Amino acid sequence: MGIETALPTDFVLTTQLQRVINWSRRSSLWPLPFATACCGIELMATASSRYDLARFGAEVMRFSPRQSDLLIVAGRIGIKMLPVLQHVYQQMTEPKWVISMGACASTGGVFDTYAVVQGCDQFIPVDVYVPGCPPRPEMLIEAVMAIQRHIDQEGIPPTIDGKRVPLGIAVDPTHAVAPQPVGITVGGQ
Ligand code: SF4
Repeated sequence: MGIETALPTDFVLTTQLQRVINWSRRSSLWPLPFATACCGIELMATASSRYDLARFGAEVMRFSPRQSDLLIVAGRIGIKMLPVLQHVYQQMTEPKWVISMGACASTGGVFDTYAVVQGCDQFIPVDVYVPGCPPRPEMLIEAVMAIQRHIDQEGIPPTIDGKRVPLGIAVDPTHAVAPQPVGITVGGQ
């Protein structure tokens, strides 16, 4: 059962092709979870039934960069891991977006050491920063929605002279989480 059942048989549906493309693109983001540390657990929770990332069409986690268009960097990136991250980003399909999840991915977090990258945005274009250690699943969902809003309005990421320009959106650290529709019960209590 779809929208066509609600339309009269002689109804002519017209829209802009670009709007349809943007709608389909933002409704089918396929994330590649580059999860290297504890933020990855929150990323897994985001896809679980309680937070249900599937509501936003972005639950199809792919572990092949060629099938992904949303890179989620969740956790600290060691210097030795950096070439892998860059390689994965380069292999992803265009148009593609990047979320930096958590303090470690965005700044190195508490790991102020020569072995840890002090912000993955120095090496790949980051579109949305999610603050926190770790961020809650709701904040990651807010980041996904920020990218979806951009796709709805602009379609593809901005470029200057053929070079990708990161969106540079930061999720508000005081972002109020919405109350969950169902309370948690443990052991039937
Ligand atoms: S930001 Fe915090 S929770 Fe996330 S990977 Fe770093 S130490 Fe772990």
